[in-house]
Amino acid sequence: MAVQVYFIGAGPGDPKLITIKGREAIERADVIIYADSLIDPEVCRFARPGAEIHPSASMSLEEMTAIIENAVKEGKTVVRLQSGDPGIYGAIQEQMAALDKRGIEYEIIPGVSSLFAAAAALKAELTIPELAQTVIITRLEGRTPVPPLENLKSLAQHRSTMAIFLSAALIEEVVAALLDGGYSAETPAAVVYKASWQEEIVVRAPLKHLVGRVRKLGIRKQALILVGDFLGQQKGRRSRLYDGDFKHEFRQY
Ligand code: SAH
Repeated sequence: MAVQVYFIGAGPGDPKLITIKGREAIERADVIIYADSLIDPEVCRFARPGAEIHPSASMSLEEMTAIIENAVKEGKTVVRLQSGDPGIYGAIQEQMAALDKRGIEYEIIPGVSSLFAAAAALKAELTIPELAQTVIITRLEGRTPVPPLENLKSLAQHRSTMAIFLSAALIEEVVAALLDGGYSAETPAAVVYKASWQEEIVVRAPLKHLVGRVRKLGIRKQALILVGDFLGQQKGRRSRLYDGDFKHEFRQY
């Protein structure tokens, strides 16, 4: 039987940053469930007239599953919109498990994570030769526990590029753990609030000034914290990819 349920990465905010495949699924959908706290309702304008639209912020997993199950039984197509890419802090695991239990098929359509919208806003490459070739995606422990080996202080020892989700409200703790773990107070850092939205705010500061700047602006949520030397003097550095003597698959001369 054809798939009737789609988990779609709606992108970081700008409705134009959804994929064509995601948009086509919205256009076909009979029922749309979207995370209204993080997704611009504008993406729902791709829906056909008469489509049922449910904001999910105040919905429990059971309520959401019941809506999906009933719609599937009626032969309808359901779209569940997730912010950014569903693969990062999307809580889709539990939603998929609930559908597996009921034998309901689904497909995931990826999206542009806010991490990449933030890098674009910063006009930064997250991986710079010789400076940083590793990106750590993490969060501070909140209501969701973080495994002990992944605590921020120990991850900071790598001094790689780090992207910290879901933690802007706890920025004092974040910065303290980063400094404690090994980044210097001068390490360049940034906070991007609502990347790709009209209200986007980009704050750049060395770690030692980051808390003050972010607090002053009152940023507490919908923000990503980025840290690492990739944010420093990127100019003048060249990737070896464009070196004349660097041969690779597509450029052999
Ligand atoms: N799956 C999403 C992340 C969902 S978790 C993704 O791939 O982006 C929610 C967290 O993501 C927020 O606390 C914030 O840290 C980050 N976030 C989501 N949208 C954002 C945006 N437009 N700008 C900055 N951070 C964002």
